[in-house]
Amino acid sequence: MFNNIEMHELSVALGIVKIAENVIEKEKAKSVELIELEIGSLAGIEFESLDFVWPAAVKNTVLERAIKKINITKGKAKCVDCDTVFNINHLYDSCPNCKSNFKGILQGKELRVKALEIV
Ligand SMILES: [Zn+2]
Repeated sequence: MFNNIEMHELSVALGIVKIAENVIEKEKAKSVELIELEIGSLAGIEFESLDFVWPAAVKNTVLERAIKKINITKGKAKCVDCDTVFNINHLYDSCPNCKSNFKGILQGKELRVKALEIV
C-alpha cells in the first residue's frame, strides 16, 4: 500500500477524478482524453508521489486513459512591510529586500483542473 505522503497525494488524485467525473456527467461525454492540472509549488504536492499514485487513483474511472499534464506555477509573494514582490520556494522564505517575514502569498498555492479534453 501507500505511505503517508502518498496517501495525501492519493486523496488529491481522487478529488481530481471526482471533478472529471462531474464534468463528464454534465457534458454527457464518455471519457477524458487529456487533463491539464495547474499546481502551485507551494500547494504541498509531491509531484513524484502524485505520479506514483495516479494509475491506482484513475483505474476504472473516466480518467483511466487520459494523458495528464501538469503546469507548475511558481510561488510569488508580496512583502507586507516594503511591498516588494518576490519569488518564493518555501512558505517560510523572507523578503529579499527587507528580510521581513510578513508577506501575502500572491501565487503558488493553487491546485486546480485547468483544462479537460473529453470525448
Ligand atoms: Zn520587504
